Amino acid sequence: MATCMVKNCTATAQSAHLSDGLDEHELQLCPEHLGRAQAGEDWTVVADDAPVVLMGQNHPWNLIASSATYRTEPHCGVVLKLTVVRQGQSTDLDVFVSPDEAEVLTKLLNRHHP
Ligand SMILES: [Zn+2]
Repeated sequence: MATCMVKNCTATAQSAHLSDGLDEHELQLCPEHLGRAQAGEDWTVVADDAPVVLMGQNHPWNLIASSATYRTEPHCGVVLKLTVVRQGQSTDLDVFVSPDEAEVLTKLLNRHHP
């Protein structure tokens, strides 16, 4: 019998077809997580080795606004100002990014740009 694909959930699951607005996904979900997804709660499928569904506190924050300011002291880099939301809750984050990390981030974003 299948196990729920939601991260850290070990309940018995059934097959369900869900649309994320772009694609149709066939997922194995337990009754609780299926109900929450059908009620409109955000869910995201990430695939490393095996696909995992992220929901609730495991769901990634969505970036809704960003800006950056250059900083020279005490270290050169960029301070990213990010506004993120999850489950209707928003947070502002200031993230210092060194030139090395900025390069890594740029490559990651370019590689995974849809
Ligand atoms: Zn579950």
